[in-house]
Amino acid sequence: MPLSSLKIVGFKSFADPTTLNFAPGVTGIVGPNGSGKSNITEAVRWAMGEQSAKGLRGERMPDVIFAGTQLRPPLNLAEVTLIFDNRGRALKNDADTLEITRKIFRDGESEFYINKKACRLKDIASLFMDSGIGKESFSIISQGKVEAIFNSRAEDRRSIIEETAGVHQYKVQKDTALQKLQHTSDNLDRVADIVTEIE
Ligand code: ATP
Repeated sequence: MPLSSLKIVGFKSFADPTTLNFAPGVTGIVGPNGSGKSNITEAVRWAMGEQSAKGLRGERMPDVIFAGTQLRPPLNLAEVTLIFDNRGRALKNDADTLEITRKIFRDGESEFYINKKACRLKDIASLFMDSGIGKESFSIISQGKVEAIFNSRAEDRRSIIEETAGVHQYKVQKDTALQKLQHTSDNLDRVADIVTEIE
């Protein structure tokens, strides 16, 4: 499921519409310090649903919008689109090409789209769940992440292995089912109380 293209406009240092096309194989991005290399991987993570502004080196999510320079006024919208070649159906969708778009406005409201159709953050998360990519996956290894994995607790390392092995989705489904069971059990207790009161 190669990421074939990335379109960025108004995200961090990318004030102008910018398209990066990735050829098969390895792509290297080189540039001087502060030229925006990390902003590219952050744009990818953000479009996949990153919810932590701090994880993107900001205080609030609208900080990802181009903040302006001495020569250019700030913008009010950031938009990132990831284009995946999905002919191998690695992502759970029947389309051969998948365009994932995220927009954010100055008021902080984010919008998500799959193939130009508005969707929820949850839909983006389930699209990537157990695909091996995603905002929490290990397809994007940022500076310091390797040390963080080695130094993490055994439980956290286990969840990394589960995510990689593709069992994470079943754990999420199990947790949801257990919550529903608990809810139903609470309701039954309430019914039993009422029945006792009536008797
Ligand atoms: P290094 O090689 O030092 O790691 P880099 O090439 O990875 O650098 P980035 O960290 O991606 O560079 O980019 C930093 C640049 O992005 C800085 O010049 C910073 O001013 C700019 N930048 C970050 N957020 C915004 C924003 N919201 N608006 C405008 N520019 C921004």
